[in-house]
Amino acid sequence: MKNYKVVVTGGTGLVGKYLKSIIPEAVYLGSSDCDLTDAAQVREMLKCHEPDAVIHLAARVGGILDNMKYPVEYLEENILMNTNLLKECHLSGVKKVIAVLSTCIYPDKVTNYPMSEEDLFLGPPTPTNFSYGLAKRCMAAQIDAYNTQHNKGWSYLIPCNLYGEHDKYTEHNSHFVASLIKKIHDASDEVVLWGSGKPLRQYMHGEDFAKIIKIMLTSSANGCFNVAPSQVYSIDEIANLAKNSCGKENINFIYDSLKPDGQYRKDVDSSKLLKEIGDFKFQELGQGIKATYDKVKGKYPLFRENK
Ligand code: NAP
Repeated sequence: MKNYKVVVTGGTGLVGKYLKSIIPEAVYLGSSDCDLTDAAQVREMLKCHEPDAVIHLAARVGGILDNMKYPVEYLEENILMNTNLLKECHLSGVKKVIAVLSTCIYPDKVTNYPMSEEDLFLGPPTPTNFSYGLAKRCMAAQIDAYNTQHNKGWSYLIPCNLYGEHDKYTEHNSHFVASLIKKIHDASDEVVLWGSGKPLRQYMHGEDFAKIIKIMLTSSANGCFNVAPSQVYSIDEIANLAKNSCGKENINFIYDSLKPDGQYRKDVDSSKLLKEIGDFKFQELGQGIKATYDKVKGKYPLFRENK
């Protein structure tokens, strides 16, 4: 990929950090390098870097509470970032765009699981992240429209939930697996988890997702692709995997049923992607959590609130 210039938005986030270790030659941008909600900054950034390809990871991302508290910001910031970036990529002639969506933008409920790419617009996103889901769905429609009207050959990936040592290890503002690891690490005998423990999830290590993005960068595939390991676990099963992976087999989990469960299930079928890229061996969840825990406990001995 020498002489092929790649810009990565969201380069300071979880996925961006994994990508940086496998595509070090790309340019990695955070919000202080370029605020994507400002079209002029986006135009200037593309003029400065003149990329052949843009990997668009940046988004306003957060947990259920934050999504429910700030629906306006989730809708507006994500729509602005995506619209500015795609429009300016079009105007400045960027050849390849790979954007990242999320399985939480799928309909709250469908008839058959796992969901395929065709199910994306079959119903509204779940109420707990409605604004985020709708804004990201708009980006799917935008990329489809650029491909249809301007023959772009751009693509977008729809990954399941992610985890890894580059996540945020805070108790209240982090993704489920990171928050779970922190709670288990801190606990002596019991850990309180939100909801019923019954919702079903797919989890992928951030490193696996970064590897798939790299493969897609050199592939001629375009359009929409789900990205997830096929295994589906309940929240309770993940919690039990995690306590074993963290060497805390004696921990008991208490479920706070007054707190929301979030979407019951959103598992997706990745066979379209696997047909395109060939077989891909995803890290097994228990082993991935163990590897993550081994890294973070050394790096953040007190699990300081890292950004
Ligand atoms: P993250 O760790 O929360 O990082 C978000 C990134 O977006 C940061 O680099 C942040 O920059 C950047 N950003 C936010 N607002 C911005 C703005 N106004 N202008 C420019 N950059 C801005 O995200 P992630 O977990 O790596 O997720 C990457 C992508 O994967 C996102 O599109 C997300 O929706 C998707 N995804 C994530 C998960 C998951 O479980 N993490 C699951 C499915 C899909 P600063 O930090 O510099 O402010």
